Amino acid sequence: MGILSYMQDNGHEQVVAFSEESAGLRGFIAIHNTTLGPGLGGVRIWPHKSEEDALTDVLRLSRAMTYKSAAADLPFGGGKAIIMADPVKDKSEPMVRAYARFLDSLGGRYITTTDVGSTIRDLEYIRLETRHVVGLPISEGGSGDTAIMTGLGVFMGMKACAKHLWGSDSLAGRTVAFQGFGKVAYHTASHLREEGARMMVTDINEAALDKAREMEATIVPGESIYDQECDIFAPCALGGVINSDTIPRLRCSIVAGGANNQLLTDDDGLALQERGILYAPDYIINAGGVINASCEVGAQYNEDRAREKTLRIYDTVERVLDIARRDGVSTSQAADRLAEERINSISKLRRIFRG
Ligand code: NAD
Repeated sequence: MGILSYMQDNGHEQVVAFSEESAGLRGFIAIHNTTLGPGLGGVRIWPHKSEEDALTDVLRLSRAMTYKSAAADLPFGGGKAIIMADPVKDKSEPMVRAYARFLDSLGGRYITTTDVGSTIRDLEYIRLETRHVVGLPISEGGSGDTAIMTGLGVFMGMKACAKHLWGSDSLAGRTVAFQGFGKVAYHTASHLREEGARMMVTDINEAALDKAREMEATIVPGESIYDQECDIFAPCALGGVINSDTIPRLRCSIVAGGANNQLLTDDDGLALQERGILYAPDYIINAGGVINASCEVGAQYNEDRAREKTLRIYDTVERVLDIARRDGVSTSQAADRLAEERINSISKLRRIFRG
């Protein structure tokens, strides 16, 4: 299928291809939908095998950002960028600054931040060329590390699910099994620990396991995390881990974690429901990072404001659960409906002439 037909079928507005040979820069910016505001999303620096792979990825990721921001009640649309390069071997100051000059030419239709392969250091270079960048260090007036609010949001999502299932949102005495104990899981776990929850952890990195031990978590080996008897299974490492192989193994009541794209296919949301497991849609509960970064746009970043907005993830999960009940659909389908309903209702306001 051609690029224009793909864009039309999936509601994309714009795709920009950029190239600057002197800096070894090649890549794409995709803007999916700007009904609610400029496209906001990170720049992924990754050596995709082909242009087609990179283009497919950037289109898919920009669409996901539209849904994440819309459901999080943010005044932003969806955008994403890909620089086709190895972030360790190829990345350089000229490369990211050349990228920034192209994104600046979009006049603010796309606002960039970090993603896989890009760091706060890269954002500092990008800032030299454009003001359409967020996620800068707090010392430079930015919003800093996204994982703090992401971890808080995941915790709030777990609590909203607990309230729905058990009538109380206290997680005291509940057991949470983490797959991956990196930045997001660590911050979620600190809230859980304070609340008196028990934790099980697996990770492939010994330093991450040491942090888990410091939090008195029980360490379990790799794949066995799926088979652990627990209240909440929290995928916090990889996407696609909820699938036809793993769903029959799960012995939890709730799946709620920070990882992006946890469901391998849309049907896996329904399969969880059929097994009586409540799924907290990933992009709803891991929105704390984008909420935090959004607080840097057009205003001085204020941590209290970011925290207050992140705490609302609890209410958003409740709205998703209401839609799922109202429409008889899975929670992942309900999350999409929440986002689409907001975009559609706001798009109608454009017919009002403002004078
Ligand atoms: P991270 O790199 O700090 O942590 C990931 C952890 O998972 C690492 O400790 C890694 O060793 C571990 N891991 C990798 N493969 C594993 C495996 N097969 N089994 C067990 N553990 C494994 O990353 P992070 O920032 O904590 O992000 C975690 C997830 O949350 C990612 O999917 C990310 O896309 C998503 N996410 C992050 C943010 C954020 O603000 N950082 C926001 C939204 C979504």
